[in-house]
Formats: sequence, structure tokens, C-alpha cells
Amino acid sequence: IRVQADVYFNGTDKPYRMLGTVLDITEFKRLQQQKDDFISVASHELKTPMTSVKASMQLLERLVKTQPSSDKIPLFLDKANTNLTKMQHLVDALLNVSKIAAGQLALHKTDFVAAEMVNECCDHVRLMGTHELILSGDTQLQVHADKERIDQVVVNLVNNAVKYAPDSNKILFHIAQTGNMAKISVQDFGRGIPPEKLPHLFERYYRVDASGVQFSGLGLGLYISAEIIERHGGKIGVDSVVGEGSTFWFTLPLKSN
Ligand code: ADP
Repeated sequence: IRVQADVYFNGTDKPYRMLGTVLDITEFKRLQQQKDDFISVASHELKTPMTSVKASMQLLERLVKTQPSSDKIPLFLDKANTNLTKMQHLVDALLNVSKIAAGQLALHKTDFVAAEMVNECCDHVRLMGTHELILSGDTQLQVHADKERIDQVVVNLVNNAVKYAPDSNKILFHIAQTGNMAKISVQDFGRGIPPEKLPHLFERYYRVDASGVQFSGLGLGLYISAEIIERHGGKIGVDSVVGEGSTFWFTLPLKSN
């Protein structure tokens, strides 16, 4: 609580009026703290891959000079590349947040088959081979949306399903028509989310284990996803049971006839 008192004098040394303000700044402080935490997490998240790229480059420099045909060269190049991609995703997320804040998230809508888009967004998980991916429902359903932005939403949800369910071996996707919308869901069998955390999940910078270092992240993926879906006139949500898993879902307008 912040208390402020203004005392007014009228040409004499006796005050003639006093104005007091009592301001509850709890929420302001929480947001300020969230922002400070975010800056330190973001710097750390960028620093880790950057340090790794730097180390790879130094080793490469040495190898190219001393053993130009070493079979380690492609490995270090690959490592540097993976870390640069990580940095690129982080910077993209930060840029998206400023675009959202400035109301400049432009949409370029087309008609496309939702199941095909979901399949394309899972290519990297198939390559990793960590989780079985099962798609069910109406695989012909077409939606009217900005495909690139919706790709981003699905990739966020799939990456979270992989990241927060590392010990389970499958991810289920379901596509269905509900009224005049398409509903797309991504179900994992991971740690789940406590019910009291659910209302905050789509807030900017929010992370369930903010102080934990077990999972890296900026707490921006779901915030950006929610903004994208809302801009399409759709809804986004989650059903979750701790210890059993989570189902993230969103809706999109169907292809217009
Ligand atoms: P990030 O993953 O970068 O922290 P997100 O905005 O994608 O940010 O997610 C916000 C938080 O929601 C995560 O930190 C995590 O605690 C929780 N979360 C998201 N997806 C899942 C999931 N599939 N299972 C469990 N928790 C999740």
C-alpha cells in the first residue's frame, strides 16, 4: 500500500488543506516483479545458446586450421546451427510480443485443411522420434485462418506437450467441427497443471514453476498463441489433471462456402 499526503498552504505558514491518497499497489508490484524476473530469465535463455555457439565457433576455428578434414567439423557446425535456431525462436517470440503490444499482428487468411497443417507442424517431433503422434477426427475439415500464425500456435502446443511430458510416449491430436467452428486439440500424458494455476496460464510471462530451472522457457508461447487465436475470433483453453496430463484446445472459423 502506498500512502501519499499533500499539504496546501495559502500564503501563511498554516496549512489550509491536506489531501491524502491511499493506493493499493500490490498488483502493480506483482507485474513489476514479473517484468524484472522476465528480463533476467530472457537474458539467461539467450545467453546459454549464445555461449554454446561461441564455444563451437572457437573449436571449429581451431579444427579448420589444424585438422581441416576432421569428422568433428560437421558435428560442431550442427550444434552451432541448433543453438542459433533456438536464439532465433526466442527473438521471434520477443518481436511477436512487441507486435501484439503495438496492435500490429497482421493476419493473412486463406483456406486450408487443418489436419494437413497439424501434420506439418509435427515433422520435427517425428524426426526426434520421442513421442508417437496420433491424429483422429475430421481430417478433411478446412479452416479459414492465417496458416503461418496457426502453425506457430500448433508448434507451441506440440513443443510444450513434448517438453512437459518427457516420460510419456504419445501425443493425441483431435480435429472436430463444433457449431460453425473447427476445434483442434493436443493431448499429452505429462505432469498436468494444478487447477489454481490454470487461470493464469495464458498471461504474458507466466510460468507454472517460475523459480524452477527444470524446464527452460520464457512464458510467452501460450500468451502469443492466445492472442493469435483471439484475433481470429476463436477461443483457446486447457483441461488438465495433475499427474495425468493436459489437453490444450483452440477453435477457428471454418472455410467459408
Ligand atoms: P514456456 O513453456 O516458455 O514457459 P508457455 O507460455 O508455453 O511458456 O507456457 C506457460 C507455462 O504453462 C509453462 O511454463 C508451463 O509451466 C505450463 N505448461 C504449458 N504447457 C504445458 C503442458 N503441456 N503440460 C504442463 N504444463 C504446461
